[in-house]
Amino acid sequence: MFDYQSHFQTAVEALKTERRYRVFADLERQVGRFPRAIYRREGEERDITIWCSNDYLGMGQHEKVVSALQETAGRMGAGAGGTRNISGTNRPLVELEGELADLHGKQAALVFTSGFVSNEAGISTIARLLPDCLILSDQLNHASMIEGVRRAGTHKQIWRHNDLDHLEELLKAAGPDRAKLIVFESVYSMDGDIAPIEKIADLADRYGAMTYIDEVHAVGMYGPRGAGICERDGVMDRIDVIEGTLAKAFGTLGGYITGKSALIDAVRSYAPGFIFTTALPPGLAAAACASIRHLKQSSSEREAQQRQAAVTKEKLREAGLPLMPSDTHIVPVLVGDPEVCKAASDRLLDKHGIYIQPINYPTVPRGTERLRITPSPFHDDALIGELIGALVETWQALDLPLEGPTTTEHVNRRAELFAASGG
Ligand SMILES: *Cc1c(COP(=O)(O)O)cnc(C)c1O
Repeated sequence: MFDYQSHFQTAVEALKTERRYRVFADLERQVGRFPRAIYRREGEERDITIWCSNDYLGMGQHEKVVSALQETAGRMGAGAGGTRNISGTNRPLVELEGELADLHGKQAALVFTSGFVSNEAGISTIARLLPDCLILSDQLNHASMIEGVRRAGTHKQIWRHNDLDHLEELLKAAGPDRAKLIVFESVYSMDGDIAPIEKIADLADRYGAMTYIDEVHAVGMYGPRGAGICERDGVMDRIDVIEGTLAKAFGTLGGYITGKSALIDAVRSYAPGFIFTTALPPGLAAAACASIRHLKQSSSEREAQQRQAAVTKEKLREAGLPLMPSDTHIVPVLVGDPEVCKAASDRLLDKHGIYIQPINYPTVPRGTERLRITPSPFHDDALIGELIGALVETWQALDLPLEGPTTTEHVNRRAELFAASGG
């Protein structure tokens, strides 16, 4: 008879052989002690510092956010009780969509149960509703966008990452009459670089394409009201669809798209990933709303995050650690080998109580394995000092090269060489 279990085992063994098998850290975050947490393994407990959280601003523990969740759940219950269509459209969710449309300066917003679902459902539905739509997708787009492009089932072309000439070539070849959807991100989360948004919008106008941007790693953190890079650069109205998450800087859960009313209404009406699933619970919607409202009028979190990220980068450079170039709050340190990357991460945790998840293929290209560090307003200068000491010790223990102090120029030069070598 067919041996089902051995097939699952073989599949997992293949990942282990390739050093891509993932182990999750059992963490217990504690309100008020961000970024500290309790880490448990094999019956042992210890206090550690998280340096790789996407709760970028610590909003998941913010008093306003936690109390909105508690108060609303106490009043309205834990779950939504149905899909949006079948009694799941609860009042806080309606308010949240109003808040999001306002945040991005759009006519309407639609909330999904995650950012992943919003991309998968949003991109695929928009493209399927257009006749013979050609999707033009940036090479480094997130897995959720790739799923959206796949599910659309329409023709697609991949443009080289942030390469405007390549994008223009493809737009030109498609011709002005064909429906075209350009999908890309504002902040690319593994490298911390930023798309040339305004120039992409110019090309879209010139060749008659629609634009869809993922601002997941920017919402809450950039722009005067935390609407993202498009707001910072004054180009929100140049982009047709702005997508974001409630789960990273906003510290809760859920995803969304914003845009013109007709488009949002169409996705609401046609996307299975929106229609056939239970709505976000009222407590979460209220918590997300509280977080967005707070970050709309408070910039101190954003400023502190930028400061701590800049200090971390500066100290890494001074210590000669191989900082990769980044224009944002994301601080990637190159290791370049999956096993060594895992070993570095293990040593940081075991010896130094510092948790930084190794980032390996397929999340990043092979040979560019890295530690991705995300300083928050709560990673103070003392914690940064500890981090640098632990990294230097780890680099020496694993016989990884230290470079001596580098400058931004050095870092950018390395990036060029790296790109040229196909890295
Ligand atoms: C995390 C992520 C998503 C998915 O958002 P979730 O709310 O976590 O599902 C989408 N796009 C990018 C670029 C991401 O990094």
